[in-house]
Amino acid sequence: MTSAAATNNDLPASPISSTVDFDSDGRHHGHLVLPYSRDDAAYGAVMIPLAVIGNGDGSTVLMTGGNHGDEYQGPMTLIKLANTLDPADISGRVIIVPCMNQPAFAAGTRTSPIDKGNLNRSFPGKPDGTHTERIADYFSRYLLPMADAVVDIHDGGRTLEFIPMASSVATPDQPKVDAAAQAAAKAFAAPYVTKLVELDSLGMWDTLVAGSGRPFVTTEIGGTGTTRPELVNIVDAGARNLLVHWGVLDPDSAEASTPDRVSQPITVPDVGGYVISNTDGLIEWLVPLGGAISAGQPIARVHESRRLGVAPVDYHATVDGVLAMRHHPGLIKMGDAIAMQATLD
Ligand SMILES: [Zn+2]
Repeated sequence: MTSAAATNNDLPASPISSTVDFDSDGRHHGHLVLPYSRDDAAYGAVMIPLAVIGNGDGSTVLMTGGNHGDEYQGPMTLIKLANTLDPADISGRVIIVPCMNQPAFAAGTRTSPIDKGNLNRSFPGKPDGTHTERIADYFSRYLLPMADAVVDIHDGGRTLEFIPMASSVATPDQPKVDAAAQAAAKAFAAPYVTKLVELDSLGMWDTLVAGSGRPFVTTEIGGTGTTRPELVNIVDAGARNLLVHWGVLDPDSAEASTPDRVSQPITVPDVGGYVISNTDGLIEWLVPLGGAISAGQPIARVHESRRLGVAPVDYHATVDGVLAMRHHPGLIKMGDAIAMQATLD
């Protein structure tokens, strides 16, 4: 067993160990092993699949998916990449973790069935915290310090659907990092590129990585608890485009592709980008995902489904632009985001 070195030794060592040597060239598949004593296995473990692909000197890129367990575009691309990426085609190192929150991924749920932890609200984590916090801590103190750049692939999970976008996270106090992250998000070459405004940034991997001074790219590409052929192609190509952009993958190798798309820049307004439902009910979409919207235009109508004879409630666009995200499936509750709007830059 090999463990990476922790960067903050004021905290106890992580209970997680790696079965893969991070410093060995070649393609290695193994696991991050988190002890998990439970009713059906007193000496059990959470086994988080991991690949380390190394070839000599160069940058280290950390690629993650499954931060939320009900998202499949990232794990799909990263499992394939972990199985096919040829060390001869790279310079440096690629660390791939397709299913960060493995218990959640195995259950097909956003949060962990062990402790209900939302991994992307648990950073920087704690080595002696809940299982989800222990996973977060390992990424924060062991994997992140090894990385020169990070990409974390998300989609909308089972309850949201996004237009395909790559995003940087704004770091205004570090202009060089900010510029590098924006250039990388463009290099992903998804149909749209943005600086995503998060509803709730506390405890996020995004914030931690961007704040550490490393270029960070995240995505929101589709969702609804499945993959789609056209979206898988975008993510497959985007992951490889980033490896080329960051100087790790040989652009002339068979694995690399030539980006054939210039991303449309979009902005999610700080205030009013999200449309929040004020009612429970059944959504009638008046604009398709990715459709053009103009301020004042009704985009969704929510029908009261528990009793008849009640007038529906219309929700209106507040900006001119595009319907960038919508709630999924058909029922919505009061207080939940029904849609996200974006303006075209
Ligand atoms: Zn997510």
